[in-house]
Amino acid sequence: MPSCSVPASLARQSGCISPSTGLPLPSWTAAHRAKRPYGNAGVIEGNTVFPPAFPLDPIALLRIALKRAPEANYQLSFLPHVAPWLMKLRAASRPERLIETARLMRPLFARALPEHEALLAEAGAERFLRKTGWLKLYRSDRAFEALKRELALAQEFGMSYHALDPDGARDLEPSLAPVFRRAVHWPHAASVTNPLAVTQAYAARFAALGGVVMRGNARSLHRANAHWRIETAEGPLDAPPGGGGARAVCPRRAFTARRHAAARHQARLPPPLSWRR
Ligand SMILES: Cc1cc2nc3c(=O)[nH]c(=O)nc-3n(C[C@H](O)[C@H](O)[C@H](O)COP(=O)(O)OP(=O)(O)OC[C@H]3O[C@@H](n4cnc5c(N)ncnc54)[C@H](O)[C@@H]3O)c2cc1C
Repeated sequence: MPSCSVPASLARQSGCISPSTGLPLPSWTAAHRAKRPYGNAGVIEGNTVFPPAFPLDPIALLRIALKRAPEANYQLSFLPHVAPWLMKLRAASRPERLIETARLMRPLFARALPEHEALLAEAGAERFLRKTGWLKLYRSDRAFEALKRELALAQEFGMSYHALDPDGARDLEPSLAPVFRRAVHWPHAASVTNPLAVTQAYAARFAALGGVVMRGNARSLHRANAHWRIETAEGPLDAPPGGGGARAVCPRRAFTARRHAAARHQARLPPPLSWRR
């Protein structure tokens, strides 16, 4: 059975069908974990090959159905609402479709680290970046064998990785318990030591550029005369007439400020991730 020797919070992050989980190097410590809000591992996912997918293996599906899988949970009463979407996800999770998606996603994922590096520098948060790779552990040979397609695609995409035995993995990370059979080290993956602090640094930079951050319940969105309105801690916020859903959360003044901030930012960001309006 696929599994890992690292905290369950990481296992959840690794997605619905992933047989692995990641451990950013160097050593994982309680102190690192304490800084991570809500369990986000802080991995910058540029090394992801496949998207999360619907489990096609009946045993994996049964484990989820019986709520025995750490990577997925569900509420029975909610299933009918998401059933159409789940069926589409299942269709998109056929091996050939996954490969197609992986090819389409690659240019976007390849930009993840450079984009974050630029933003971290701009936000003065470079100290949180760790370019020490990502070590994924596999408890069983079967779980490792299931990686074949992913590793072949990674090779095709020019992504480096090293397949390791337990000794090789423990050379990198001596504190690992010897409860796994195989490991893969992705040396060019990077992570941040404190995702909350990085988010706060980005938010501060956004504000410095003229962006406005307000707190409110998105469910309070409603029609008020000719406007869309949302209630915030700072009072009601109206979208300008004719504004769409996304604009509804921005008053004209804030929206204009954001546009200016975005325009200034756009001038420094390379395509394809620059803001488009
Ligand atoms: C345990 C764990 C580990 C992970 N590790 C990684 C990782 O290492 N690397 C990685 O790339 N991804 C990781 N992820 C995934 C990543 O965290 C998510 O994909 C990402 O946070 C999604 O961003 P989002 O903005 O769409 O949603 P969220 O980050 O969930 O943000 C949604 C926000 O909306 C707020 N909200 C909800 N309802 C309302 C409402 N009615 N009104 C106003 N606000 C509302 C929520 O409070 C929340 O702040 C991890 C996820 C988990 C659960």
